[in-house]
Amino acid sequence: MKTMTCRQLGGPCDLAHRGETHDDVINAQDQHLKAAERDGDAARQPARDEMKARWRHPRRSLGWYREMKQAFADLPED
Ligand SMILES: [Zn+2]
Repeated sequence: MKTMTCRQLGGPCDLAHRGETHDDVINAQDQHLKAAERDGDAARQPARDEMKARWRHPRRSLGWYREMKQAFADLPED
C-alpha cells in the first residue's frame, strides 16, 4: 500500500488516500472531490471541475494521468 495526498493529486487539501495502485488513489480522489461538491465545498470546487474535465477529455488528460502514475510509482511503500 502507498499513500498519496489530495494535494499530490492536484487538489487543495492534505487528505491522504491509500491504495495498491495509482488507479486506487485516483478513484479515491475522485470520490473525495465528488463528496466535496455534494457538500457545497467551494474550496474544492476548482479541483472537482478539473477532475470532471479530465474524464470528459481523457486524451488531453493523459499527461496528468501519466504524471500521477509516475508519482505513485516513485512513492515508498507504507
Ligand atoms: Zn482534498
